Amino acid sequence: MKRATKTLIVALGGNALIRKGQKGTIEEQFENLKLPIRQIARLSRKYKIIITHGNGPQVGNLLLQQENCHTVPKLPLEILVAQTQGQIGYMIESTLDSELMELGINTQPLVSLISYVVVDENDPAFKNPLKPIGPVYSEKEAASVPYPMRKTAKGYRRVVVSPKPVSIVEKREIKKLIEMNFIVICCGGGGIPVIREGRAFQGIDAVIDKDLAGAKLAEEVGADIFLIATDVQGVALNYGGKNQKFLRSVTLEQAERYIKEGHFAPGSMKPKIEAAMQFVLDCGGRSVITSLEDIEQAVAGKAGTEVIQDVLELPDGESKT
Ligand code: ADP
Ligand code: MG
Repeated sequence: MKRATKTLIVALGGNALIRKGQKGTIEEQFENLKLPIRQIARLSRKYKIIITHGNGPQVGNLLLQQENCHTVPKLPLEILVAQTQGQIGYMIESTLDSELMELGINTQPLVSLISYVVVDENDPAFKNPLKPIGPVYSEKEAASVPYPMRKTAKGYRRVVVSPKPVSIVEKREIKKLIEMNFIVICCGGGGIPVIREGRAFQGIDAVIDKDLAGAKLAEEVGADIFLIATDVQGVALNYGGKNQKFLRSVTLEQAERYIKEGHFAPGSMKPKIEAAMQFVLDCGGRSVITSLEDIEQAVAGKAGTEVIQDVLELPDGESKT
């Protein structure tokens, strides 16, 4: 029986499955998952674990696949998000199962949960697509495609609307499963976006940012640590520029200022910072943004960028930012 009392939420980026420069074959995706999942398996000895994950590359690929097929009916985006929850949930769950076995942890229950996330139909985000999905294009390719595109830190990508998560529909079920010591994989791809219609829910064409959904999940299930794992070591000032500087910690006040100064790109680092800030501010929890390689180190307070209330709080005793 696990004695863990603290709940750790790990939010895995889409690049936990498809790394820079890869095509994204299924073999590559399974291979890539081992790195974060092995660490999470080890952490499950000490923490109750919730895993959430992105779906940007996968949901964009599904959209492309169906746009190039004219013999079967097309599906709305919310159904494609549901498909990626199943697809990636299966991949994480089976990889985790193998890694737990490898560690000799044979009795750990785990489950992937189809999850809806409520959004507000009046969210201004519906008027302005900002969330990058699918493959990266060159400037020339981007000019000739028939949908909204944006230049991101990785290149040109298709963008879709991305409203803010308001509430996780299955929060009670997730909490129960965690209390019962299950490892829960949920809110994949930011959750299936739904709006309330009276007492029912109606799916809506959008992709919720998984980092913001992760922060909402952390709040609603009462997690202790919210960790975002991505393809950079943490949060940088002047990212990609000459004076690029990665931060070990950032206070809420500093983060607010850096957002205003434009250090964090919308659709990538900005939602991560905002999600981390939200959890620290509203719930007093620990938030850290780190690389897929450094998940365990970041939980130990030795890697990544920690978002803190003020400078005295860094878990390993450092106080510099
Ligand atoms: P994920 O799939 O993990 O959500 P994203 O591509 O959405 O990954 O976000 C991570 C990316 O954010 C990095 O690869 C980097 O290109 C970009 N980025 C933008 N601004 C910053 C910044 N200030 N510091 C670090 N990374 C940044
Ligand atoms: Mg992202």
